[in-house]
Amino acid sequence: MTATDETLRSSLALVSRAADYAARRHVKQRRKGASQEPYVNHLAEVVNLLAQTLEKPNPQLLAAAWLHDVLEDTCPTPEEYARTKAEIEKQFGPVVLGIVLEVTDDKSLPKETRKRLQIATTAGKSREARLLKIADKTSNVYAVAVSRPVGWDGPRVVEYIRWAQAVVASCRGLNAELEKAFDMAVSAAHAALLSSDPMFDHLFSNPRSDSQ
Ligand code: ZN
Repeated sequence: MTATDETLRSSLALVSRAADYAARRHVKQRRKGASQEPYVNHLAEVVNLLAQTLEKPNPQLLAAAWLHDVLEDTCPTPEEYARTKAEIEKQFGPVVLGIVLEVTDDKSLPKETRKRLQIATTAGKSREARLLKIADKTSNVYAVAVSRPVGWDGPRVVEYIRWAQAVVASCRGLNAELEKAFDMAVSAAHAALLSSDPMFDHLFSNPRSDSQ
């Protein structure tokens, strides 16, 4: 095997091991949407968005994308969190763990604080963490368009989209193609909302046309 083949094999192995690990960790989880998709579909969507749009291949970022919700969503106790963190570092290395930690919210904080912190702190994170955050928000906003979470009314959808837009606005300028995918997801979510609740039309109208 050539050195190039060896490098390619270890990159592919890192990413596929991360997929395998994440699929096992999230095995009992479903997405919030009415269609109750397996959670792993969200992870695959995020990885795929990055793989399709990254200017340079980055296996550590793709591995981190598979693992990005493991600490936040599959560790109900501080002990489990610490054990999983050590396991990710051992199996995938400190660079992958570092990216995962950068995009992991502190679940001990109230939800509103966590949401505010994402807007305030994402811009100061690494390029990898910011790209991952945009891909994550793209997948989540698109999910709201195709399968709205059970119990979410129109105002809650509008608030969610606006929040996601504020987070992504804080880290634009990294990858035009990925940012375009986010904008398309927002348009799809708006269209889905307007088709079910035409009364929300005014919330998305252009302010300039309002004043005419
Ligand atoms: Zn996610």
